[in-house]
Amino acid sequence: MRAYVEVDLAAIKANIQKFAKDPEVLAVVKADAYGHGLIPVATAALEAGASWLGVALLEEALALRAAGITAPVIAWLTPPGENFAQALKSQIDLSVPSVKICEEILDAAHRVGIKPRIHLEVDTGMHRGGVLDEWDALLELLVARKSEYELVGFWTHFARADEPSESYTELALTVFEEKLTLARAAGLAPAIIHCANSAATINFPGSHRTMVRLGIATYGLSPDVTTMGNSSDLGLTPAMSIYAKLQLVKSVRKGDAIGYGGVGVATQDTTIGVVVMGYSDGIPRGADSRAGVYHDGKRAPLIGRVSMDQCVVDLGPGSRASAGDYVALISADGYTADDWAAASNTINYEIVTRIATRVPRKYL
Ligand SMILES: *Cc1c(COP(=O)(O)O)cnc(C)c1O
Repeated sequence: MRAYVEVDLAAIKANIQKFAKDPEVLAVVKADAYGHGLIPVATAALEAGASWLGVALLEEALALRAAGITAPVIAWLTPPGENFAQALKSQIDLSVPSVKICEEILDAAHRVGIKPRIHLEVDTGMHRGGVLDEWDALLELLVARKSEYELVGFWTHFARADEPSESYTELALTVFEEKLTLARAAGLAPAIIHCANSAATINFPGSHRTMVRLGIATYGLSPDVTTMGNSSDLGLTPAMSIYAKLQLVKSVRKGDAIGYGGVGVATQDTTIGVVVMGYSDGIPRGADSRAGVYHDGKRAPLIGRVSMDQCVVDLGPGSRASAGDYVALISADGYTADDWAAASNTINYEIVTRIATRVPRKYL
């Protein structure tokens, strides 16, 4: 195997268990469980005490059902025209952020004769998902057709829960409570109230309500290393490691330029290694020498540009590496997803979710 992702399911379980004392934990497994593999992660999270699963897309929810997972599942990013009938037949909870989507879900319910389980999503200041200007119209619709659905949840998503200042999140919570009060006054009675993502779960215990939606923390990564510290500061265990083989090991001279554009230049006579993973595998093309591989107890930084299927690392003079050896791109003792994020001007979320499906996943 030229390269593989290793996922430590015991780490996933430990991360979930850390929060399982909270009201209820919904494990967020969208985007192929943040690149870790949907079904193995969902199964491990449920075993560790998560009682719900959350995904963005309907097809992700259907994949959970196809694998025989019967736990409650919500899909919250279903655009108009989605196959809501299929969602209802598969017992998938749906989010309602607009009149149009609400009407389509209720229409589908009539066709298949199944009462939808819905979660009303409120925009409390992120100005992305959730109902905002249509609030009155949507509430009116929900009150008028109250017998046609089951209101399972009432929810929102925070824009800035990773920031040290609490003011924006406090404001969002105030708006949320106002809307919840209005909904209850209109006769709606949602059973589950959920707002907190990983950052809010950690930073704002006062926002937990009856369920938290744990995404990045499930995978052992920090929601924001600059404001909240890294995995170990937060007591989380990263679940993903990545290994690839060295295709070639060779000597270059001081001044030799490496790779496309000649942007990486050897500062001394050294040994380079060609690693069989590139940007088509999800290794960021823009990554610089703050990332690389770990081999034989040493860090070997990237040198030159990452190519489509390969990248080159500086193994150092006198390296004992040989062609065919595995090197670790992400590992507990070497470079982390946070290092790759810093080296590529992005966040750990983007590093792990973009590891391509052509890289096989192995499970511990
Ligand atoms: C992705 C997502 C989450 C999880 O966010 P993390 O920052 O990864 O914890 C929670 N809720 C919604 C609606 C999401 O889209």
